[in-house]
Amino acid sequence: MQDENILDAAQQPGALGDMTPDDFRRYGHQMVDWMADYFAHVGEYPVLSRNTPGAIREALPAHPPVQPEPMESVFADFERVLLPGITHWNSPGFMAYFGITGSGPGVLGEMLASVLNVNAMLWRTSPAATELEQVTLDWLRQMLGLPAPLFGVINDTASSGVLYALAAAREATPHLFIRQRGMAGRHELPPLRCYTSQEAHSSVEKAAIVLGIGQEGLRKIPTDEQFRMDVAALEQAIEEDIARGVQPFAVVATVGTTSTTSIDPVPQIADLCERYGLWLHVDGSYGGMAAIDPAMRWVLAGCERADSLIVNPHKWLFTPIDCSVLYTRKAAVLKAAFSLVPEYLRNTESTGDEVPNLMDYGNALGRRFRSLKLWMIMRYFGQEGLAARIHAHHQLATHLTEWVNAAPDFEQMAPTNFSLVCLRAHPQDMDDEEELDALNERIMSEINAQGRFFLSHTKLHGQFTIRVAIGNLRTTEQDVRDLWAELQRLARP
Ligand code: PLP
Repeated sequence: MQDENILDAAQQPGALGDMTPDDFRRYGHQMVDWMADYFAHVGEYPVLSRNTPGAIREALPAHPPVQPEPMESVFADFERVLLPGITHWNSPGFMAYFGITGSGPGVLGEMLASVLNVNAMLWRTSPAATELEQVTLDWLRQMLGLPAPLFGVINDTASSGVLYALAAAREATPHLFIRQRGMAGRHELPPLRCYTSQEAHSSVEKAAIVLGIGQEGLRKIPTDEQFRMDVAALEQAIEEDIARGVQPFAVVATVGTTSTTSIDPVPQIADLCERYGLWLHVDGSYGGMAAIDPAMRWVLAGCERADSLIVNPHKWLFTPIDCSVLYTRKAAVLKAAFSLVPEYLRNTESTGDEVPNLMDYGNALGRRFRSLKLWMIMRYFGQEGLAARIHAHHQLATHLTEWVNAAPDFEQMAPTNFSLVCLRAHPQDMDDEEELDALNERIMSEINAQGRFFLSHTKLHGQFTIRVAIGNLRTTEQDVRDLWAELQRLARP
């Protein structure tokens, strides 16, 4: 039993309402102060959590709190128990996977979205949430240099977006009627085929699994020496499949693959898609954002011809997770794939084209007010500010690439197209691939154990490759220089 004196009014026996505005204000101020200090000192935490598996579960009670607990002790446990189990994606030393980061205006936008707690499933359930989503995504379209009209919708992740895009692609394929009749037991239905490169993200394959296309229905096309889809091999695969009675329906190209950030030749792939009548989806989850930098506009060449395209503000646009944008030139097809309006959701305001009901463009009914944080980020930094930051990350990656290439004991493993550098230590007197793999794995593990930096890896041509992903708002040139010095030190015998 708690001492009632240290509990808030809303926690007293018999109380039924929410935390009072005064208590909310007091805790809110404390927590915002904590957040500001966190941003100021985030680089001082070990970037990769040092917790052992299960430590958090063990430190927390197995049973739910029956009685109210003082907010002070809840917050104390947040700091004492949970914080050590946090891997600090906002740290300047976070260079694993993709170096993504939240930002001050993004966090403030999240806070406002959370206090409003609107569900933007229908236009009427918050007109501002629906219309702001349309406005911010049109601003983003302009920043990316993509032609209008382009319909955009925000999903939680690119993994959801590609699932929806491929469902639309299937819907666009004539004579299948899969929405109505399903796929099971339909002997008249040809096996469907989608194509992507061997370097595509696993979310494409997962979408094929969920849609019933199956893993075998996704054909992975080989890549060239720069990890880009081989268009001649794609064409050959399509021809082979057609000859065998398999029905091609979509191609997923990637601008900025996960392992190396390679860029598939979208214009040539678009030519093939037009010739064979296939839906072209482009996964620009990470790399697409680079087009905001005028010097990088070219990366989206050909995407104006794509049927759908994903870019992720929660990757390289400083937006707290989650916020993934699905654009499509065929909004009516996406709607035809997903719209299902039961009586209790029927309404009169958004039956025409003027305002959408966003629930019609995907599987989820409920949707968060995600455009608010994006709007705040765009207005706070401005297009030029965002472009300058993306440009700076690219520059840092270019510098690191130059240092790697000038060092006799290191090698660059893939082109640096964006802000990711793929490298490995390769001492001049070491040529055994197993030894090289072991050396690089050890270097990465030691760096990750030190706490200042967090790196991740991939395998390229079967060789262990360290990925240095720069994309964090707080990463400076000094951080990259220090990492480089440490990589070199650890590579020495
Ligand atoms: N596509 C690419 C190229 C990615 O790198 C990733 C994640 O890193 C994804 C898709 C999946 O993104 P999400 O986490 O938004 O589903």
